[in-house]
Amino acid sequence: MNLAAFPRTKLCQAPTPLEFLPRLTKALGGPQVWMKRDDLTGMGLGGNKVRKLEFLVGDALAKGADHLVTQGAVQSNHVRQTAAVAAKLGLACTAVLEHRIETNDSAYLNNGNVLLDRLLGCTIEYQPGGTDMQAAIEEVGARLTASGARPYLIPGGGSNAIGALGYAAVALELVTQANEQGLRIDRLVHATGSAGTQAGLVAGLHALSSPIRVLGIGVRAPREKQEANVLRLAQATAAHMGVDRPVPAEAVEANCDYVGAGYGQPTPGMVEAVRMLAQLEGIFLDPVYSGKGMAGLMDLVRKGTFGPGENLVFLHTGGSSGLFGYVDVFNAQAA
Ligand SMILES: *Cc1c(COP(=O)(O)O)cnc(C)c1O
Repeated sequence: MNLAAFPRTKLCQAPTPLEFLPRLTKALGGPQVWMKRDDLTGMGLGGNKVRKLEFLVGDALAKGADHLVTQGAVQSNHVRQTAAVAAKLGLACTAVLEHRIETNDSAYLNNGNVLLDRLLGCTIEYQPGGTDMQAAIEEVGARLTASGARPYLIPGGGSNAIGALGYAAVALELVTQANEQGLRIDRLVHATGSAGTQAGLVAGLHALSSPIRVLGIGVRAPREKQEANVLRLAQATAAHMGVDRPVPAEAVEANCDYVGAGYGQPTPGMVEAVRMLAQLEGIFLDPVYSGKGMAGLMDLVRKGTFGPGENLVFLHTGGSSGLFGYVDVFNAQAA
């Protein structure tokens, strides 16, 4: 795996810490739980999208772009990180936000990531739930081109074979770090949505012939669809990296039992996970992704899915600024 061939703009504070979580491990009474802190990538309050943006923006700059265009749900962490990177590099940024969740809640509509998007000077357009969001950014791109700008379109979540290189790079970073710390990692668990994080990890670990198994906890799509999306993108990413051994379907595993009523809809397990990580480890998860990912990890530990001697690493993908968009959910259950 040689990532040096790809244009890349350094944006992350890396390597991010790989930490043992002693109080969570004790409370769960199962395997040893570690955390890879990609909530601490640094740029614009951090998170997993900065990893992908290193390669996406590298490509954008190589192509002479002056305007980043992307899309996401109203409380998108990806949009916030893209807007921060654009500001840092002096690029314009337009984001199309989808009202994917039906709500009039003022915190959801104005606080959290939306507040930060506005502070970052990002131009925001809104679309109703169910809009074809890729078509929406293509329309914005055409409009910008017609007005003389040089837009670069980034798909939702930054999830294509270029963005996913960011997580192939994390596979190498994590394997190196674990070797240095003398840690044998059995499983890597994280929240999976637009699939680029898991696809990049799977492609990178495959390229390294690492035995670490990746488990994605879904936040939106049902299992079959999620696994198909991850596998397709992992294969495209491996091909893009010039890995000629095909990524086997068995390398892709997603558990989509923790979505609840839908994308961005709170679940009791998510609220419990967010509170437990705060109170046991002083770490903030988020309501849409890492909270549900950790809820899945905790439930699977309690069900005895993992052996007591296993070492689990939870990849914290960031997103805690989204908590401020969910004020009532946490205040109601803060007793
Ligand atoms: C986007 C996001 C994810 C999911 O990553 P994908 O690459 O879209 O699957 C997980 N956690 C957080 C906090 C995110 O913002």
